[in-house]
Amino acid sequence: MERTLVIIKPDALSKKIVGKVITTFEEEGFKIVAFKMVLLSREKAEEFYAEHKGKEFYEPLVNFMSSNPCVVMVLEGENIAQKVRDIAGNTDPQKAGEGTLRKLYAQDNRHNIVHAADSLESAEREVKFFFSENEIHHWEERIYKK
Ligand code: GDP
Ligand code: MG
Repeated sequence: MERTLVIIKPDALSKKIVGKVITTFEEEGFKIVAFKMVLLSREKAEEFYAEHKGKEFYEPLVNFMSSNPCVVMVLEGENIAQKVRDIAGNTDPQKAGEGTLRKLYAQDNRHNIVHAADSLESAEREVKFFFSENEIHHWEERIYKK
């Protein structure tokens, strides 16, 4: 089954909308299989965003992402990486579609509420970056579902 990595960024904690973000995922029917709060060190934030090294937004992005804790989670489901990217919306909230998390809650193209892995390959790498296999739970959805 496909998995993806989501980070609820420090601006979402400041705005106290972590619950709203999680509710959005649950209402979409997404399945949460791992979940925790982490304060990224500067080094870990640099490593996580290594693909952007050298870009003008890299340093401030690393500062922002290591400024306060994040909530990180793994979601599982068919085509889940793409589905989460769709719900997140464009990086820049001014370009994000109606109803997307970034359109609803993001302040600007740095403080944009969520990170979502951009491909299956990235998702695999990013899940491993934050979680060991024994922190990912293979719980059964069927049992208590209405
Ligand atoms: P994402 O995959 O939609 O998150 O976007 P990217 O992978 O291109 O960029 C990673 C993160 O860097 C974004 O989510 C933003 O927080 C930040 N970022 C990207 N582009 C810009 C930009 O042009 N300006 C600023 N300030 N931040 C940016
Ligand atoms: Mg990206």
